[in-house]
Amino acid sequence: MAGRKLVCLECGQVNRVPEDRLGGAPKCGTCGAALLPGKPVEVDAQTYAKAARTDEVPLVVDFWAPWCGPCRAMAPQFAAAAQAMQGRARFAKLNTEDHPEPGARAGIRGIPTMVIHRGGREVARVSGARASSQIVDWVRGQTAEKA
Ligand code: ZN
Repeated sequence: MAGRKLVCLECGQVNRVPEDRLGGAPKCGTCGAALLPGKPVEVDAQTYAKAARTDEVPLVVDFWAPWCGPCRAMAPQFAAAAQAMQGRARFAKLNTEDHPEPGARAGIRGIPTMVIHRGGREVARVSGARASSQIVDWVRGQTAEKA
């Protein structure tokens, strides 16, 4: 069984998870961290880059910063969406103050901006704060993942 490649967001190791294990709380074979934790994981520039080019499960990244009011307001909505989509998509947060390079490279001008990656390419992006239900609908619509 081929499975789907997922980069561990904690240690950066590439894991291969069988389709039927995606919903079963798979863990990283190297560090034991949950691969699909159902909550947003803070990533650095290096982990983000590796996951964005490797992950075969939709990776939803919230580009944010601590000084950005709308970003902070959206954080619980993003977390709720991550929980709602556990096993079907991964949610990560990239602090653009600590790690400005990825956003600059991607041409992101305003935050919050959410970007969906899958299979090494950008699937979609949207700027501005959203409610959790809007985030879930958007990710489902862009990735054709079934509810
Ligand atoms: Zn790991």
